[in-house]
Amino acid sequence: MSIHNVSKQFGALTVLDNVSLDIAPGSVTAILGPSGSGKSTLLRTINHLERVDGGFIAIDGELIGYRQHDDALYELKEPDILRQRADVGMVFQNFNLFPHLTVLENIIEAPQAVRGQPREQAEALARELLARVGLADKANAFPRQLSGGQQQRVAIARALALQPKVLLFDEPTSALDPELVGEVLDVIRELANSGATLLVVTHEIGFAREVADRVVFMEHGRIVESGTPAQVLGQPQHSRTREFLAKVL
Ligand code: ADP
Ligand code: MG
Repeated sequence: MSIHNVSKQFGALTVLDNVSLDIAPGSVTAILGPSGSGKSTLLRTINHLERVDGGFIAIDGELIGYRQHDDALYELKEPDILRQRADVGMVFQNFNLFPHLTVLENIIEAPQAVRGQPREQAEALARELLARVGLADKANAFPRQLSGGQQQRVAIARALALQPKVLLFDEPTSALDPELVGEVLDVIRELANSGATLLVVTHEIGFAREVADRVVFMEHGRIVESGTPAQVLGQPQHSRTREFLAKVL
């Protein structure tokens, strides 16, 4: 995936300021930065939850939100946007499960609605994914009957059910009690080891150091610094990165 000179304004506020980032297939990128630096907005542009005001994003050579023709860009229509969105899985801080659906129903909804999978096929994959996140016995539970860590693992299984090309995590453990953080990080670590392409906004510095191939530090809508965990976390070049790390470590 390639993010190329992406800009985004909300009124007079520039939230993304010429952000460029190349994400190699199978790589894990951790995004760090203070609150309000544009991390969530960056993820949301990749998932079509926000449109960009400048630049573009490409996944597998396909432009997100646009079609290129005769050297000009045309905005995509709704069906194409839905198709593209299915290639990008997203896991939110607050899980965002459908409260009135069981765990199994939460996972099979999109594969049936978006990919047109028959119920049996969607269900077989859902059960496989539930086993993978350690929740094989929770298929018929409702979200409210699960702990936060379990709900987040269901949300990860749900994102995986569309077999996305890239998975985005927006502070996936920030809403969890400390004792539940580990079980969710374990699932993300397993995904990383299995070759998934991951973009993870997180304040878990230890996790970023261990799992990420690349660490990106953002502030005021810009990428201030990026490199290997050893570079950015071990020998940060910018004073802003150092100040931030001193606060979160
Ligand atoms: P982060 O995830 O790094 O905390 P965000 O991407 O959520 O940052 O927000 C970046 C900035 O954009 C913040 O100043 C925030 O208030 C502003 N912002 C985010 N979404 C909107 C919106 N829909 N309308 C106006 N301002 C927004
Ligand atoms: Mg955010």
